[in-house]
Amino acid sequence: MVTKETYYALSTPMGVSATATIRISGPKSIDIVSKITKKPIGFFKHRVSNILYIYNKNNDLIDRAVVVCFEKPSSYTGENLVEIHSHGNPTIVRNIFNCLSTLGLRVANPGEFTKTAYINKKIDLVQAEAVFNLINSRSTGGVDISLNNLSGSLSKRLLLIQKSLIYTLSLVEYELDITETDNLKNTQTQVMSSLAETLKNTKKLIKTHSTAKVISDGLRVVIVGRPNVGKSTLFNALLQYDRSIVTSDPGTTRDVIEGQRTISGFPIVVVDTAGLRKAKNKAEIAGVKKTDNEIHSADIIISMVDSTHTKAVIDTPKTKPTILIYNKKDLLSKERLKTISNNNIDIFISAKTKDGINKLLALIEKNITQNLQPSEDFYITSKRQEDILVSINKSLTKLSKRGVFELEIFAFEIKNAINQFDWLLGKTTPDEILDSVFSNFCVGK
Ligand code: GDP
Repeated sequence: MVTKETYYALSTPMGVSATATIRISGPKSIDIVSKITKKPIGFFKHRVSNILYIYNKNNDLIDRAVVVCFEKPSSYTGENLVEIHSHGNPTIVRNIFNCLSTLGLRVANPGEFTKTAYINKKIDLVQAEAVFNLINSRSTGGVDISLNNLSGSLSKRLLLIQKSLIYTLSLVEYELDITETDNLKNTQTQVMSSLAETLKNTKKLIKTHSTAKVISDGLRVVIVGRPNVGKSTLFNALLQYDRSIVTSDPGTTRDVIEGQRTISGFPIVVVDTAGLRKAKNKAEIAGVKKTDNEIHSADIIISMVDSTHTKAVIDTPKTKPTILIYNKKDLLSKERLKTISNNNIDIFISAKTKDGINKLLALIEKNITQNLQPSEDFYITSKRQEDILVSINKSLTKLSKRGVFELEIFAFEIKNAINQFDWLLGKTTPDEILDSVFSNFCVGK
């Protein structure tokens, strides 16, 4: 299917830069570019780049830019597509936008270029999600996963699992088609073993999601504790620069502050929070509420205590990996250190002198690797993919546990699972789901 409209968008961030890329896709794109460059349509050859002057409707010169045309279907979207690589001045970009709007084009919707590529069967939905992840990954590992998925490897893997289900269904349907059979027991064994294999494969894939998330987005490491225990000092020590304000006045950090770093190649978001205590004013109440939210979205919590006031341990959810650290070790005498040491404390540190920071980093790294599954060739990367696989898995597990081999029920459930694979790959996905996938994209992608 080819859309009737022609749309455009900036594919690079708006701002001052050497060049900016404006993409135009749709039936009129080459016609329009011929108008704004004053070159005949025949001048534009597939994939050939030209440096051309660009003019608006009043014949004013807008810029001198590199223009490349891609003829359908051999373009990103599968439609006629033009890329204008102009100078990266926002005024020039705006002038080109005005010029295109005046000629009747509209601005693209978020993700419209990729959605059109999907509609025109250039890529499936799993590959479209890979494009999104490729742009947003924060690590080389994440980029590698997305590139692999974009190349179609994950889609092939999913198709293979679906194919094996189609084979399983054919066994069941054969039994349904013939009236009498003495082969039923044999077929049941085959179907069960085939289902067990499918379940093994889907379970394996489901588990890869959390690993992919750790590899591409990193983990949120949230520092919590009472005011003045040294959270901001530790935050700065972990980021290796002074990002947060450190003072001896309790309640200085009221907002959530975050910064990024890597630990053994894994991207980490370190979060400094408002100290938890009975808040005294509105700003502090809001800060404490934000801290609560951060605790709930944390992947790892660093619960911090001032070891000169050992009573002040914060309650954290039991389900979250928590590292309990006692700070201000430098202020403790050896005797005091001995008395307060107990098995619950993971580590004594001094955020101020940085004593113990390396040990803390090693503890965080241990926590990260515990979150990782052994490396796999394929990773699923979206909640949508995970949800569908979980649903397939649930119904097939139920089926495999049925004591009786009821052919109709087996055929129905297996067909259902086969259809869900079509959803997963975007062959029969409802519009609302498609809209939610592509609305996450930025305009221009
Ligand atoms: P927060 O309110 O928990 O963020 O605590 P801050 O990081 O702002 O620190 C509160 C006060 O404790 C400041 O005066 C820091 O210099 C001091 N402090 C933080 N960590 C240490 C430490 O390890 N040793 C000592 N002696 N003082 C510290």
